[in-house]
Amino acid sequence: MPATPRPAPRLAIVVPCYNEEEVFAYCQQELSALLYTMVQDEMVQPDSFLLFVDDGSRDTTWEQIKAACTDESHVQGLKLSRNEGHQSALLAGLAAAAPQADAIVSIDADLQDDIQAIRRMVEGYHAGYDVVYGVRECRQTDTWFKRTSAEGFYRLMAAMGVRQVSNHADFRLLSQRAVNGLLRYTERNAYIRGLVPLVGFPSTEVHYARGLRTAGESKYPLRKMLALAMEGITSMTVTPLRLIAALGFSICAVSLAATFYVLVMKFTGNTVEGWPSIILSIFFMGGVQMLSLGIIGEYVGKIYLEAKQRPRFHVESFLQNPVKNLSQL
Ligand code: UDP
Ligand code: MG
Repeated sequence: MPATPRPAPRLAIVVPCYNEEEVFAYCQQELSALLYTMVQDEMVQPDSFLLFVDDGSRDTTWEQIKAACTDESHVQGLKLSRNEGHQSALLAGLAAAAPQADAIVSIDADLQDDIQAIRRMVEGYHAGYDVVYGVRECRQTDTWFKRTSAEGFYRLMAAMGVRQVSNHADFRLLSQRAVNGLLRYTERNAYIRGLVPLVGFPSTEVHYARGLRTAGESKYPLRKMLALAMEGITSMTVTPLRLIAALGFSICAVSLAATFYVLVMKFTGNTVEGWPSIILSIFFMGGVQMLSLGIIGEYVGKIYLEAKQRPRFHVESFLQNPVKNLSQL
């Protein structure tokens, strides 16, 4: 059960944007309207705000964010110096919002996630939860391929012991202390949805139906989806390395049995021309070794990247409005 109920928070809604010129205006309008009604209903403080993170877009996204910051006092904009990817952009936004907010909701710019669920997330915060996961009820609007591959991925992750909320992406509410906890994970290869459960604190879920992208195309092509899945596995678990060891062990055991069989055949005078089996086993072993080296290489690569302690992102500009009071609008 969560801790004691809490008063209305100063809420920040963080939106990573990469080449989102087609959806930005709609997104800003919808989220502003939502924020406004929540202020009126006294669910959140009047100085709550939206924070758009421009992840090195090459279109007019940043110009639009800048204009919104000028026109609207409840809008903030953060520009990264280059495209760092969704996870880093989100972390940059969380880091910028945390010192100014009691609760932070993260949502994608295309508003595929139902923004009304944010109200229920805030209610979760009021009830004392530090983490409120947005969970997709059905994925009918996703393509068959995206749905099936995502389900397979969640199953694979669970089988390897990674705790992760199924059908939850990066639509969630975090309290200030949960964000600060998350930011203490300084690894370069951050897989946020695997890290949040590790931070702990009372958590709950809010279910919603996911819609279609309002405009523009997905910024997650298959290549980026696979990269995220790989990132998720190799940065959260060493199970694949253990599987390699287990595989190696079983192959050794099988070879031992096979050697025994061959010796028996030899001494009973039943030896045969065995080149197909030899060739096959060479190929098979070669394959197993290459695969194993590849997986080990992936982890070694991770160590290499972590050892360099490179910064996760650089902020090019941060537009923070001095006056952020929605009730004065
Ligand atoms: N995004 C980002 N950097 C990237 C790719 C995506 O900040 O390199 C943002 C994008 O603007 C959107 C969110 O991440 O707000 C999720 O992307 P998208 O909606 O295209 O993914 P999908 O819903 O197709 O998985
Ligand atoms: Mg989307």
